[in-house]
Amino acid sequence: MTGGRGGFEGLDACVHCGFCLQACPTFLATGDESDSPRGRIELMRGLERGDIAATDPALVYHLDRCLGCRGCEPVCPSGVQYGHGLEAARSRITAVRPVPAMARLALWALTTPGVSSVVYWFARMLRASGLPRLLAGWGRLGFAMGMLAATKTGGRGRYGAVKSARKRPTPTASYRPLPPITAQIFRGCVMQGLFSHVHDATTRTLAVNGYEVREVPGQVCCGALHAHAGLTDEARALARTNVAAFGDGEEPIVVNSAGCGALMKEYGRLLGDVRAERFAARVRDVTELLAGDGMQGPVAGAPLDLHVAYDPPCHLLHAQGVAVQPLKLFAAIPLLELVPVPGAAECCGSAGLFTLLEPEMSRAVLKAKLERLREATPQVVATGNPGCLMQIGAGLAAAGIAARARHPVELLDDAYRAAGRYE
Ligand code: SF4
Ligand code: SF4
Repeated sequence: MTGGRGGFEGLDACVHCGFCLQACPTFLATGDESDSPRGRIELMRGLERGDIAATDPALVYHLDRCLGCRGCEPVCPSGVQYGHGLEAARSRITAVRPVPAMARLALWALTTPGVSSVVYWFARMLRASGLPRLLAGWGRLGFAMGMLAATKTGGRGRYGAVKSARKRPTPTASYRPLPPITAQIFRGCVMQGLFSHVHDATTRTLAVNGYEVREVPGQVCCGALHAHAGLTDEARALARTNVAAFGDGEEPIVVNSAGCGALMKEYGRLLGDVRAERFAARVRDVTELLAGDGMQGPVAGAPLDLHVAYDPPCHLLHAQGVAVQPLKLFAAIPLLELVPVPGAAECCGSAGLFTLLEPEMSRAVLKAKLERLREATPQVVATGNPGCLMQIGAGLAAAGIAARARHPVELLDDAYRAAGRYE
């Protein structure tokens, strides 16, 4: 991103073979070559050469409709780095076209310290009223309400959520050899504002597995939403703050949001310095830490008689290449049955602010996934990213599918609680 061509070089390897087309949710939704990776790569190459202006309506239209899910990367035999090219192209477009007002407003409300804490407080109050669940539906307001309702903790005794007498149970003991390994937790903005119960579950489940999770003051939003919107300078400023806040230690930095983890693992490229590279090398998804270096998997929990559809977040599976570790987590819960869902690895249509900015395409992509989920009849759809949890949760509610979206560590947390591993 800081190199001479800003990421466009990642597109050089494309040989137009078209293997990526069937992996692209937007191409599958429209059948239009310009909504495919191959078509977009041609547009982006034209942009870099100067043959296509950054203001060209067709260029902007088709790149705006790209989810940035990177589902096209693992299937590409030539190793095209589509995501790097897309960020470079979006950065060029943003330089000549203002970021849409709605995106600016959302970024300001969700990621600005001071502002976001008030916004999240109101959101939590609204969520606690129960209204969002009642108003969930397909319209703009209904979908937004469904997204908010989907952030609620699963602690209602349904679908494997085990009730606890204590609000903040703590692990009775680590079940791994002492001394504990220290890990620093990244809290993020949306995760901290609406999914703090997932942070609690992360801390507890890691403690059972021999980690002591430490807080890091001074950390800020990871910058992923900004980078995806083409606001590279803002993303860099946030990255620099985080690199300084987490310091130069060796401890792993644990992240439970796939979108945040994907960008944080790229801070070295984003900032182009050695300190940021060292930071990036420490970043681990929570499922990577729980699975362990030897992939032995987490300590087993109590049985949960649950049918679970795992929906791997694009930014975990495609961007970070973390595929096996979440399966190790599910394997540590006896009786839990993973329900196969065709096309589970395809994007849900959330893609950061995409669900707000491109609602038509976002819902088209989501509805294809929902139909497959309806047939699979899981009780829980597990996914490790806040945007996916909200998008899929809202979709399940709007489509009248009786399943809940939950983070994988919430399920492990339930299994540990049921096994008496917390007091
Ligand atoms: S991106 Fe890869 S898979 Fe797609 S057309 Fe180019 S070379 Fe083929
Ligand atoms: S990033 Fe996703 S939506 Fe965009 S071209 Fe690749 S597969 Fe299609």
